[in-house]
Amino acid sequence: MAKGVARSRRNRMMQNPYCHWCGRRVRYWKPSRGETLPPDFATIDHLNSRNQAKPRPEGGRWVLSCLECNMARARAEEQAKPTEEHWRESGRYPRLRGK
Ligand SMILES: [Zn+2]
Repeated sequence: MAKGVARSRRNRMMQNPYCHWCGRRVRYWKPSRGETLPPDFATIDHLNSRNQAKPRPEGGRWVLSCLECNMARARAEEQAKPTEEHWRESGRYPRLRGK
């Protein structure tokens, strides 16, 4: 099952390898076991959180996210705050990418 889905995700990553949240370019490779991943490593961020602050991308319940944003969002969820508030507090506003 789901093999085609995984492949289309990867294809979409390669077409637009940028973090949905901060707009940085992300990198992806198959990590080896125990490998420490960099903050710009590509992750799939599932939009099933109650703090969803942005509209869903067309056709999907996931976006490409760098590891750093993915973890920041996980922390934000723990504290039940929108991700944008954490950015505001930390002074780390995402760079907005014109489409
Ligand atoms: Zn990011």
